[in-house]
Amino acid sequence: MAVTTDRKPRWAKRRLELGRVAPVHRLLHGAGVHTVCEAARCPNLGECWGRKTATFMILGDTCTRACGFCAVATGQATPVDPGEVERVAAAAAALGLRHVVVTSVDRDDLSDGGAGHFAALIERLHGQGQTVEVLTPDFQGDGSAIDRVAAAAPEIFGHNVETVERLYPTMRPQADYAQSLAVLARVKQRFPRCLTKSGLMVGVGEEAEEVVEVLRDLRASGCDIVTIGQYLAPTGHHHPVERYVTPEEFDAYRALAEQMAFLAVAVGPFVRSSYNADEVWARLAR
Ligand code: SF4
Repeated sequence: MAVTTDRKPRWAKRRLELGRVAPVHRLLHGAGVHTVCEAARCPNLGECWGRKTATFMILGDTCTRACGFCAVATGQATPVDPGEVERVAAAAAALGLRHVVVTSVDRDDLSDGGAGHFAALIERLHGQGQTVEVLTPDFQGDGSAIDRVAAAAPEIFGHNVETVERLYPTMRPQADYAQSLAVLARVKQRFPRCLTKSGLMVGVGEEAEEVVEVLRDLRASGCDIVTIGQYLAPTGHHHPVERYVTPEEFDAYRALAEQMAFLAVAVGPFVRSSYNADEVWARLAR
């Protein structure tokens, strides 16, 4: 494996051209919706917003969990705003999206984890002719909440494992690796027409063999689509980058995932689960 370094390579610094993102910024802020692009300080914001795509974040802007890698605000969540569904639907229409990607903060305070809100939005977006990809929390393993979302028939049901099992205590202390796999397996078993998707970040201290293990576990759980990208710490207070994974290693992960017969594989330094999600879906839907 490559040498560990804590110096950010030049490629990891992406320029944000304010003029290119301004129209989408105005539209989204005017619509009163949240995006994970901003909340998680995604390095791809300039590129994605520049091509008029974004990933909506619902159920408010405050997460009830505190994962070591994530920049989304954590704390006491606010009551669910039923008007959010209409606002997101309007913003998705105004952006001209054909494939809408929706994620959320974790809402462990809600009895259904926010599943009903997800379902209402999926149905609303389908009603205006858009396909939908959700990236959900684990719903604390609550089968009825998972089923509620999957029964609304999103074209893609995503749930990220985020990292290898050994690093859960520091990266996802309130989550459980086996439980996350079980979310994907449940959707695939009960709603086979839903494509399932998961992603993980590398460069957080994992070994290559552990990544291979995750890929095997995802396939065994019936996961159809996998993404692997370089972790970039959103601030100095977050889990540090242990190292920058080399292009050759990314190539090796991609080749391995392709051999494992995932339906789609997206692997690269800037890959995030929602990165170019519309293009991945368009290829699969052909
Ligand atoms: S990769 Fe996803 S979260 Fe990041 S800017 Fe693009 S759409 Fe937003």
